Amino acid sequence: MKIFDRETQSPPDARGRFGQFGGRFVPETLIPALDELEAAWTLARADPGYRKELTDLLENYAGRPTPLFQAERLVKALGLQARVYLKREDLLHTGAHKLNNTLGQALLARRMGKKRIIAETGAGQHGVATATVCALLGLECVVYMGAEDVVRQSPNVTRMGLLGAEVRPVEAGSRTLKDAMNEAIRDWVTNVRSTYYCIGSAAGPHPYPLLVRELQKIIGEEIAEQSLAREGRLPDAIVACVGGGSNAIGAFHRFASEKNTRLFGVEAAGHGLDSGKHGASLARGRPGVLHGSRSYLLQTDDGQVAEAHSISAGLDYPGVGPELSHLRDLGKLELLAATDVEALQAFQDLASTEGILCALETAHAIAALRYLPKLEFVVVNLSGRGDKDLDTIAKALLK
Ligand SMILES: *Cc1c(COP(=O)(O)O)cnc(C)c1O
Repeated sequence: MKIFDRETQSPPDARGRFGQFGGRFVPETLIPALDELEAAWTLARADPGYRKELTDLLENYAGRPTPLFQAERLVKALGLQARVYLKREDLLHTGAHKLNNTLGQALLARRMGKKRIIAETGAGQHGVATATVCALLGLECVVYMGAEDVVRQSPNVTRMGLLGAEVRPVEAGSRTLKDAMNEAIRDWVTNVRSTYYCIGSAAGPHPYPLLVRELQKIIGEEIAEQSLAREGRLPDAIVACVGGGSNAIGAFHRFASEKNTRLFGVEAAGHGLDSGKHGASLARGRPGVLHGSRSYLLQTDDGQVAEAHSISAGLDYPGVGPELSHLRDLGKLELLAATDVEALQAFQDLASTEGILCALETAHAIAALRYLPKLEFVVVNLSGRGDKDLDTIAKALLK
């Protein structure tokens, strides 16, 4: 496995802009820290020692490359014509794509001499992935999590505790991911010298969207290689669910300039796109600034950040990364959405046909298969497994 081999010609520009999106909208005190991070990342990315250590951990600790599995029974049950493959990020250690990012960032933090790591988490997957690498590398770990999510995702709270991390519940706002991220940024402003902020998605101020994309793009590179081996060509489409956008940009980036591969991002339609209760920032948001960067954003008529809703904690976020926002404006990213009900149905379809309990986030991508145009060869990024959601699912199905 070779990481960072392909040189990246694509955005952002030197100011961290993806078209009109991205950039740095942060308090003055954070600018030197972001400069320091960008410089450290540029050096690390080019350093064979860093690459070797990261590659070793991705292969021998995390379990890369992840399999590409053809979902024949699912396709038959849904009455589809396409050959559909699942990229099994659910089989990565800790159960989702998140570890690709946290391994890379924790190794970077150690190089920078930072011994305290902070993170925000929604579904708890990023918190667990961060707590995991902190245990592995002997770093202190504090995770901010919305109080609502602490309840919804209690198994992950237990996991983080067992891994030695401190979980700090956040009572502000809607008590979900957006509020946890606000608190993490506040902590970073206060403790910026000693502390590394490990962001969980391809969002936040420059260089985070770039950094997280570079660490997640291995997903798409493996998809390309495995597709050539299995089908002798690249896929007609890649499908991924979109929360902040890290599993999606990770799966998509390799294909962003491939004319014959279409990219479908699936957002949370919650109770319905017209209900006002959804997480479809790309489909229904307007450009605005949240958490240090400009992107599509759910907002009220007077420009306040609106609350998102999704049955899946990982998609319950009013913003989205700047690179996906840009790909949307370029027309390269096509948008689909699945409601809570559709996601629950897709979860059951995948479980009963293929024996895979996927995460509720991922179930949105499966649900969208019904809405794809006629294509022959499709890859769905199976971003994570569903253990964390079993309570939510059981409750919803018993209603
Ligand atoms: C966190 C998470 C997501 C949403 O985050 P992205 O950054 O949009 O990928 C999706 N699926 C799973 C399984 C997750 O854990």
